[in-house]
Amino acid sequence: GGLLRLDGVSFRYPGGHAAVDDVSLSLGPGILGLLGPNGAGKSTMMRMLATLTRPTAGRIIWNGVDIARHPDGLRVSLGYLPQDFGVYPALSAREFLRYLAAVKGLPQKLARHRVDACIEQVGLAGDADRRLGDFSGGMRQRVGIAQALLNDPQLLIADEPTVGLDPGERLRFRHLLTELGGQRLVILCTHIVSDVEASATSLAVMRKGKLVFSGSPDALLGRA
Ligand code: ADP
Ligand code: ADP
Repeated sequence: GGLLRLDGVSFRYPGGHAAVDDVSLSLGPGILGLLGPNGAGKSTMMRMLATLTRPTAGRIIWNGVDIARHPDGLRVSLGYLPQDFGVYPALSAREFLRYLAAVKGLPQKLARHRVDACIEQVGLAGDADRRLGDFSGGMRQRVGIAQALLNDPQLLIADEPTVGLDPGERLRFRHLLTELGGQRLVILCTHIVSDVEASATSLAVMRKGKLVFSGSPDALLGRA
């Protein structure tokens, strides 16, 4: 572990209970499957890791640096696929990704190169100039991963990325994430165990804001 460390991380919505309650965890490269039922605190955790909200207690340490103090340190090496990722149906995948690359501030020349590389990486090279309105759910999610990869991040976070996908698309998506987990830390948040049982190198289970398990898939699923 050591790339990403959570140290007593909590988050309390104003007037609410602790949606995330004193979670500590240390992670190295690979794929972490973050499991838990609805309301467990997974999305809140993802938003903190994506630097969209700050913990109300505890620290998130990225490469040895507290991200509350230096959020840009993580932001430059972060890719995030939010749960509600939407596309512009009238644009082609390439146009949309070029637009997002501009929004993210990539210089134009680099942006063109990265857009093409990411389209290739997610297996959409043959469809890059088709309208997104004609894409299947699985293809749209691959566009979502492509935008998260534009800055070649060391940390990739995906929040419930397989919701609404058919079994074939889901399988294809899992293979893609497995490939991506070789070099970087991928955190995949899901309530579907089969999304992560084959591909995850480690699992964490949250329930009512608490981390109730962290360890190998074999240890959790009784295959050890
Ligand atoms: P999960 O992603 O695992 O379903 P969430 O992080 O969305 O869990 O929610 C954790 C808890 O925090 C739930 O009890 C939820 O109702 C609460 N919660 C989530 N978002 C808000 C919010 N904006 N305001 C107040 N409570 C919230
Ligand atoms: P998930 O559980 O999959 O994260 P939810 O359906 O719980 O999604 O939440 C959807 C949206 O509603 C999120 O933006 C979340 O922050 C917000 N939300 C969830 N629970 C509450 C709550 N108790 N009060 C206010 N907002 C909430």
